[in-house]
Amino acid sequence: KSKNEFSIKELIDSLLQMIKTQFDEDGIKINIEYEDIKILNYENELKQALLNILNNAKDALLSKKTEENFEALINIKTSQNDDKLKIEISNNGGNIDEEIIDRIFEPYFTTKFEDQGTGIGLYMTKSIVEANMKGKIEVENISSGVKFTITLDI
Ligand code: ADP
Ligand code: MG
Repeated sequence: KSKNEFSIKELIDSLLQMIKTQFDEDGIKINIEYEDIKILNYENELKQALLNILNNAKDALLSKKTEENFEALINIKTSQNDDKLKIEISNNGGNIDEEIIDRIFEPYFTTKFEDQGTGIGLYMTKSIVEANMKGKIEVENISSGVKFTITLDI
């Protein structure tokens, strides 16, 4: 086992441990579907990248909580095919307007109030995934929310 090797399952488990209390309190349910995969390097950076996505999901879900019978959900799925690792994170907190979806990775782009968002999170996430890890991050609207897909070479 190389010094910098880590397990995606362990990384996500420890991340969820970190945020569990807050997300429980906010009534957000997190489903996980794992295929455990070993990755090399950038463990802490990837953790920060995923945390940014989860915090955005939380913000989107909290803004929906006033709706009656709303069940706030986050789905995390990791899978492997050929030499690619795919991490999918989705939530049912509503779509992103098509007019702005291409801009959400830009630095300082935010739709939040000044004290709630800086617009740096996804810029940082994309830099980690694409500049450091040479992977790819994509966003798409799904039926009731948003899905982020990270693809990494392994
Ligand atoms: P911030 O969270 O500080 O606004 P980010 O870079 O993390 O900055 O996100 C940029 C913008 O992308 C957010 O302001 C929001 O409009 C949009 N966004 C990101 N994730 C989601 C999501 N899961 N659901 C809806 N909108 C999102
Ligand atoms: Mg953010």
